[in-house]
Amino acid sequence: MEKMIACCGLICTECNAFLATLNNDAELRKKTAKEWSKMHKAALKPDDIFCDGCLTTTGRIFRYCKVCPIRKCCREKNISNCAYCSDYPCEKITEFFGFVPAAKKVLDEVRQNK
Ligand code: SF4
Ligand code: SF4
Repeated sequence: MEKMIACCGLICTECNAFLATLNNDAELRKKTAKEWSKMHKAALKPDDIFCDGCLTTTGRIFRYCKVCPIRKCCREKNISNCAYCSDYPCEKITEFFGFVPAAKKVLDEVRQNK
């Protein structure tokens, strides 16, 4: 499977919501709902865990990613992720890297190879 990199540098094809959706895996959906409820301090149900990835055109995307300001910004600029932005790394993405340092590594690598 080809790797899908989200606008923010997360790797969608390694994300449990993506994998549970792809494989129609009810157990993984349940487990992910439990883990993400803790992480997001929210009450997520297994039915909330559906996602075809950040770059999908199906419209089926996890609700937090659907309203993500970084994704919105990339879409407005018509770029597939922040690595292709002339303002990289802006304040918004830098703040996100504070929570997910691995995403910076991914986007820096895309920049090096583009
Ligand atoms: S867009 Fe979907 S697959 Fe990508 S990180 Fe967000 S929840 Fe996971
Ligand atoms: S301005 Fe920031 S959030 Fe928007 S596309 Fe550029 S790097 Fe990403």
